[in-house]
Amino acid sequence: MVSEVEPANAGVNNVREYDAVVIGAGFAGLYMLHRLRNLGLKVRAFEAGSGPGGTWYWNRYPGARCDVVSMEYSYQFSSELQQEWEWSERYATQPEILRYVNHVADRFDLRRDIQFNTKLLAAHYDEASSRWDLQLNSGEAVSARFCVMATGCLSSANLPRIPGLESFTGVTYHTGHWPHEGVDFTDKTVGLIGTGSSAIQSIPLIAQQARHLTIFQRTASYSIPARNAPLEPTFVREIKQHYDEYRANNWRQPFGVDFRQNETPALKVSDEVRTAEYEARWQEGKLGFLAAFGDILIDKSANETAAEFIREKIRAIVQDPGVAAKLLPRQIVGCKRLCLDTGYYETFNRANVSLVEVSASPITAVTPLGLRSEEQDYEFECLVFATGFDAMTGALDKIDIRGSAGQRLKDKWAAGPRTYLGLASAGFPNLFTISGPGSPSVLSNMLPTIEQHVNWITDCIAYVLAQGAREIDATVPAEDEWVEHVNQVAHTTLYPNCSSWYLGANIPGKARIFMPYIGVPPYVEKCSQVAAKGYAGFAISR
Ligand code: NAP
Repeated sequence: MVSEVEPANAGVNNVREYDAVVIGAGFAGLYMLHRLRNLGLKVRAFEAGSGPGGTWYWNRYPGARCDVVSMEYSYQFSSELQQEWEWSERYATQPEILRYVNHVADRFDLRRDIQFNTKLLAAHYDEASSRWDLQLNSGEAVSARFCVMATGCLSSANLPRIPGLESFTGVTYHTGHWPHEGVDFTDKTVGLIGTGSSAIQSIPLIAQQARHLTIFQRTASYSIPARNAPLEPTFVREIKQHYDEYRANNWRQPFGVDFRQNETPALKVSDEVRTAEYEARWQEGKLGFLAAFGDILIDKSANETAAEFIREKIRAIVQDPGVAAKLLPRQIVGCKRLCLDTGYYETFNRANVSLVEVSASPITAVTPLGLRSEEQDYEFECLVFATGFDAMTGALDKIDIRGSAGQRLKDKWAAGPRTYLGLASAGFPNLFTISGPGSPSVLSNMLPTIEQHVNWITDCIAYVLAQGAREIDATVPAEDEWVEHVNQVAHTTLYPNCSSWYLGANIPGKARIFMPYIGVPPYVEKCSQVAAKGYAGFAISR
């Protein structure tokens, strides 16, 4: 965090000037760069990693894999790309997704306009010139008319501030910053904190290597078997022959993914019918388990039927009843993100795995040899933090962003992020966020909704330029109305009912505001209407 920096360009003689800069070269940044370059703009992207990929560049932990099927988790802007790329598995692994990202970067010749190993420290808006002055960690200064933040929703790792962390004499890892060369846990004793998606994917593989693995669980998670498998060539051929229809159907779905949403209420059917539907979806292995009935994410009694079905599965899989009891989640299913696993619950049947409930006895310190809870000390050689992210706002908070009149974005968002459509924040002209808070983002299939944002931003910038305008800025009334709407929609569901990262509840001191917008089709419709009305809710100045 650079709070004491001089104005972003101070003392630098050679300020490089661009029409637009893009911060980040993950899926969002790559496509944004492609579109703005094709608009004829002089664009530069800056990326902290040494290669493209964003979340898929950093999250290299064992078992890292997407939880949206690969035929859907891919770009659709290029029909040729869509046809030529061959996914090998139903759910793609991190290495395969990273190969895809690199293929895209090469295929569209994007690397020449990306500066890797470079972080943005500060971005200050200069009202006199209507330009953004940017300061990079390389010492370089850059100026741009438009600034697009493609900094990711889950890119700022959360490392809990446990006293004594520096004293640990073993090796520590965070799933979100995994060593590129991989880690061999063979014969090692390992402690792992967390039981969210990253933990659930990595635990079965770490347990296969480690001499002993101790898992520290604060909240038990619900997980569905992924039933991953190689992709059948006939299935792939069928989708590729009708890819446009396939994508169009997904755009009509609440989360932008084909979850076979059933609108029937869970309690309107007999117990047998309900259990059969849950069983079919458990066997299918998709996050669409929660789409089994129309009211699972709306009505607590309906939700409890789905929750209890999963608990029953856990009791059946885990052999030791005491361990099974600890693994039974109690919160509303789905209000923390549902997980997909390969052998997660089965791993607790291994003799070399133990489970410690830190909800009952919180971790108080890291010691030189391991962890200390209120009850006892635990020793191991390696400590893995699978403790998640400062989601949606964390990456932006780390940059000293100052808009009109020097207002800091971090200050403006202190009581929770305020955006118009998750695309812009009033008082920060010509600055756009891809998958920003207030957009479906993490409650959607990220790839399509990233493309929707990039297309919208590209059209918006083209419009501003065609008008001969100087700047575009969200208006405060439009933003206030949108923030209120996002919140109202969230509260018609069960989502705000547990301490999730959607609410910022995983980060001590972070404001508790439900951040993503729920509902892809109405959101896309709203964005289209805003554009069709000459960017209603934005002020465009000449
Ligand atoms: P996460 O869901 O936030 O899980 C973090 C875990 O660490 C939770 O179990 C949390 O417990 C625990 N934790 C955090 N601080 C702790 C502390 N001080 N003491 C004890 N436990 C602590 O993070 P994640 O697993 O990295 O996943 C984040 C999101 O990334 C997912 O929800 C998903 O959207 C995405 N993701 C997706 C995939 C996939 O596509 N398959 C894989 C990985 C991640 P509490 O629950 O009690 O806070």
